[in-house]
Amino acid sequence: MADYAKPLPTPDPVTKPFWDSLKVQAIQLQRCDACQTFVFYPRSHCPGCLSDDLVWTPVSGRGVVHAFTIPYRHPNPAFREGGPYVVALIELDEGARMLTNLVEVDATPEAVKVGMPVEIVYDAVTDEVTLPKFRPR
Ligand code: ZN
Repeated sequence: MADYAKPLPTPDPVTKPFWDSLKVQAIQLQRCDACQTFVFYPRSHCPGCLSDDLVWTPVSGRGVVHAFTIPYRHPNPAFREGGPYVVALIELDEGARMLTNLVEVDATPEAVKVGMPVEIVYDAVTDEVTLPKFRPR
């Protein structure tokens, strides 16, 4: 873990509850108390109705692949090791979409399908940061 070379998030007051929830393997997203929409990425106002009444709410960590791509080359040297890999847009059961990596699956167009059911995997890449990744279920 100590030699993790890829870029890492820098939690701020708005995003810290999200990163903290991943660290304890209990993902939470903001939910707008005015229109009930789940919001991702974390922010100060609801993108649907502009309310600032966003409440951190546990979510299932389950969803489906909405879209994906399989990079074979990356301009950043940190991403060149271990490729190809799957970058996926996951539509969570609660409706929010999250750009992430799909893991525990072959990085081929034959192995990954739009609509494939997935579940969260908590990847503790450093002592401070746990990343949300997803795997087939
Ligand atoms: Zn709203």
